[in-house]
Amino acid sequence: MRKSLVAGNWKMNCNAADGEALVSAIKVGLKSSVADVVLCPPFVYLPMVERVLRGSPVSLGAQNMSQHVGGAYTGELSAGMLLDVGCKYVILGHSERRAQCGESDAIVAEKVVAASKAGLLPILCIGELLAEREQGTTEAVISCQLDALLSSEAGLAALQSAVIAYEPVWAIGTGMTATPEQAQSVHAFIRQRIAMKDPSLAARIQLLYGGSVKGGNAEELFAQVDIDGGLIGGASLDAEEFLTICRAAT
Ligand code: PEP
Repeated sequence: MRKSLVAGNWKMNCNAADGEALVSAIKVGLKSSVADVVLCPPFVYLPMVERVLRGSPVSLGAQNMSQHVGGAYTGELSAGMLLDVGCKYVILGHSERRAQCGESDAIVAEKVVAASKAGLLPILCIGELLAEREQGTTEAVISCQLDALLSSEAGLAALQSAVIAYEPVWAIGTGMTATPEQAQSVHAFIRQRIAMKDPSLAARIQLLYGGSVKGGNAEELFAQVDIDGGLIGGASLDAEEFLTICRAAT
């Protein structure tokens, strides 16, 4: 039995006051949860969110990190620094970073390996563009993104502690959620692809769906056999909506 996980990705939203009010409301509403829950605020608010979350079952995560351990990388943050401020998870390879910051499959794979080696749990994001889905290349795209890790010993070792979020790029922030059947079919494909290398990992790895998940569609998506929770963007900025999603993940 895999435990469900719901991760909130605040992206570059909130100021300190709004963020504190949001995390406080989530903490009060989530005294106990069947699912694991993680909040990923902007870097500068990690210490504040960590402080508010103390004593709650909700974990802390970051939205990105460097693949390097340390050194002359202005503006970057290492896995060690994220651990220092209480992070347990880190989102890596989000489609916005792939598109806006030029993060290739190879760079994302390096980051996943670095995070896992340091003791963070990577949330690896993968997913196809609308044009790729329309051309029928979804599975080929997903395969490339996964194979960047599955094809090396270090990558396969890193996946042992990772979570994978399938996020069709056309569904992120657009209100165009994948149907439960569309999402389930890609999740099943991901599990099969991993099973070709490591059947035991395929059976236990948590696979999240991300892309316009809301309180109203979460239950149906999470009921799919290969969907183990969600990576939530916009709806994680509204405490009631986010709590509804967390309660749908059993
Ligand atoms: C995301 O940013 O990972 C995401 C899924 O966003 P949204 O829920 O807003 O589509």
